[in-house]
Amino acid sequence: MITVEEALGHVGRCSRSIPERRVPIGQSLGLLLAEPVVSGVDSPPFDKSMLDGYAVVASDRSSTRRVLEQVMAGGVPELAVELGATINVMTGAPIPVGADAIVKVEDVRQLDGATIQMPESGVASGRGVLPRGAAFCRGQEVLAAGRHLSAVDIALMAEIGQAEVQVVPRPRVAVLATGNELVEAGQTVGPGQICNSNGPMLLALLESVRATSIDLGIGRDDPAELRRLMGEGLNADVLIVTGGVSAGVLDLVPGLFQEMGVEQVFHKIRMKPGKPLWFGQHEQDGQRTLVFGLPGNPVSTLVSFEVFVKPALRALAGEKFCPASTLRGALTEPVAHRGKRPTYHPCQIDFGNRQQGLLMVEPLRWSGSADLAALTHANALVVLPEGDYELEVGAEVDMVLL
Ligand code: AMP
Ligand code: MG
Repeated sequence: MITVEEALGHVGRCSRSIPERRVPIGQSLGLLLAEPVVSGVDSPPFDKSMLDGYAVVASDRSSTRRVLEQVMAGGVPELAVELGATINVMTGAPIPVGADAIVKVEDVRQLDGATIQMPESGVASGRGVLPRGAAFCRGQEVLAAGRHLSAVDIALMAEIGQAEVQVVPRPRVAVLATGNELVEAGQTVGPGQICNSNGPMLLALLESVRATSIDLGIGRDDPAELRRLMGEGLNADVLIVTGGVSAGVLDLVPGLFQEMGVEQVFHKIRMKPGKPLWFGQHEQDGQRTLVFGLPGNPVSTLVSFEVFVKPALRALAGEKFCPASTLRGALTEPVAHRGKRPTYHPCQIDFGNRQQGLLMVEPLRWSGSADLAALTHANALVVLPEGDYELEVGAEVDMVLL
């Protein structure tokens, strides 16, 4: 059986960025920008008024001005401003030829419909004017490749008139829960049956990491049905199957994958929970699919997702492959560990309490890989190395954040 580190090495090698493509900017939030965005326009595109007011010649010493016309945002001045004259402009309107400053509407007095009294202090040249190209100029790179697009980035692309953007798209991930015992929550649960908790959990986890999920529902432990559903899942970038990957009579998944031409990369890992994890890859008609067969118990599914699937999804979305980051903490309770597999044990980190720079971490009472309820209190998994030993209060441990 391989170690977690070896398994991560395999997953990392197989997790290549999805081919980039153009998407509407409205669908690009959080995605990796694949090429620089270069502006084809100046910003602002013309000298523009930042105020509702009067465009004037700043050096003009006359105390009143004749109002020549009124220009709204979206309009264009027809006349030029000369000494003794002004044009009434709204915020966003182009600055009229001849004017070099805007006097705020609040600072002038209306003498009659066609004349204004200037403030005694006058106005400085440039006041209220945003010059063309003040923010950036045509030909300038406004967004560098490799960043994750934010709402502001999307607004900026819209500002320069760019409707589509070249990105690494979200990974599409198909999810299939297998097991004769499963029914969906809300359906009648017969004798020996249980509700499918992995499906909804994985769909939610995928949403939280901005992957696009494809829900294949529940597959019976029946070769024909599983073949059909898994075949459908191989059209996605990632197929996650839960259940049916261990050593039971109806654990059909590994055999079927192999029959369907999915290359097995590894099966079974030295870790707890999550030992039966199956991982492979498939390529057909240019579609590459990473295939994860996760053990059926919900906590095993969760731990396998956090440790293996999530880093793979990030790499598919264009990032460098990077195992889940760990934090260092100190135990608030003693822990006894037994066995030859490292254990990922649910724990609660108290982020408000550091002692000697270390986070305080409480290992939670947990009855094993079917015990989801303990996980509702967990915000991390403490990684207990293999072996038979006791750790005292204050012992230092590594944790994977959930
Ligand atoms: P398996 O990996 O198929 O042997 O399943 C291991 C255990 O996980 C069994 O007790 C299953 O009933 C349970 N299990 C499998 N799939 C699910 C699921 N989708 N939701 C909740 N429990 C499951
Ligand atoms: Mg099963």
